[in-house]
Amino acid sequence: MVPTISRIVQALEPSATMAMAAKARELKAAGRTVYDLSLGEPDFVTPQHICQAAVEAMEAGHTHYTPASGIPELKKAVAEQYRAAHHLEYAPEQVVISNGAKHALHNVFTVLLDPGDEVIIPAPYWVSYAELVKLTGAVPVVVQTRQEDDFKLTPGQLRGAVTERTKILLLCSPSNPTGSMYSPDELGALADVAIEHDLLVVADEIYERLVYEGHRFASFATVRPGLQERTILVNGVSKTYAMTGWRIGWTLSPANVAKAMGSLQSQQTSNPSSIGQYAALAAITGPQACVDVMLAEFARRREFVTRRIAEIPGFSCAEIGGAFYAFINIREHLGRSYNGVQIDGSSQWCLQLLDQQNVATVMGSAFGTEGYARVSFATSMENLEAAFGLIEEFVAGG
Ligand code: PMP
Ligand code: GLU
Repeated sequence: MVPTISRIVQALEPSATMAMAAKARELKAAGRTVYDLSLGEPDFVTPQHICQAAVEAMEAGHTHYTPASGIPELKKAVAEQYRAAHHLEYAPEQVVISNGAKHALHNVFTVLLDPGDEVIIPAPYWVSYAELVKLTGAVPVVVQTRQEDDFKLTPGQLRGAVTERTKILLLCSPSNPTGSMYSPDELGALADVAIEHDLLVVADEIYERLVYEGHRFASFATVRPGLQERTILVNGVSKTYAMTGWRIGWTLSPANVAKAMGSLQSQQTSNPSSIGQYAALAAITGPQACVDVMLAEFARRREFVTRRIAEIPGFSCAEIGGAFYAFINIREHLGRSYNGVQIDGSSQWCLQLLDQQNVATVMGSAFGTEGYARVSFATSMENLEAAFGLIEEFVAGG
């Protein structure tokens, strides 16, 4: 017999970012030289002192189950980090350590959403948000933002999307996939609407430390008094410390939400990796110079990518305030034929770019917005230079 997959999982779209990266890897394994701008994963190695802390944790015997919601030292350090950086008071019990921020988001939705509840997600959105919401039986309500607004949700758009069933507003700033950032005032105006309609806000702050000159990050919970009671903050070590493989992320939330997530984890994954947690502890409590070094390199690449996008006819993107992505408007290049292949949508465009020019990007449609392609500049300058040359050639007619 062929086993039947549950309806809820049948409806799940696999992660397009992971799928494009897998395709690029396959082509590389088959011997092609591929310029991979698909995955948002820092190309740097995890800093030495963090790896060393993991070795020391193993040698000290920290190789067993930990409390389900994480080791007390790491929970305390996360709370202290938010206190020092944002003057927010969280008790360690309000922190839950998970297997990456993606798992943390899944936990948040699982403990808060019932079937039929609605979650407002501004598009373009990171590929996993809508799918993780759907897994709970709740409904993602996607609101298209506009490039003219730097892809930021306006209070009017938010108000227009709220219904009796809206439970959560999901925000990501700096944004994956656009790199745009809300100012504290813009967040404040959205917070007013959230308060008016009694919404919870899930603020994905995983790119908080990757912010470029001229931009300022504000944690959502700080932009109006009393917001902590309706806010769930999501963060982690993957992006800031080049630790994607260690799988450690976390939430800061109201105590009852944290308790529910701890119970969920106790049944679901037991605990995040003990060794990973000690490494994350070293990352956030140890020397921070490594973050500045990586940020300086990202800033150099951002400048290059911004310049190249401006140079290529028909291309444009929003100002990249943070993170390591550019969301390129390719609309002018759709509806054309490339080396005899007619290309009408972003998916075909990205697949043909990979097939014809060996450059991997991710289609805007996967982020809920057609007519765009995302490039990640978490890759070497050398790769970026070659890739943009090939992209330019592609749009010029191949
Ligand atoms: N949120 C956003 C916006 C992301 O881009 C990512 C990237 N993977 C995540 C959450 C999840 O990060 P991780 O699971 O590696 O901590
Ligand atoms: N968040 C990164 C990206 O968007 C890593 C892959 C993923 O988890 O989606 O490319």
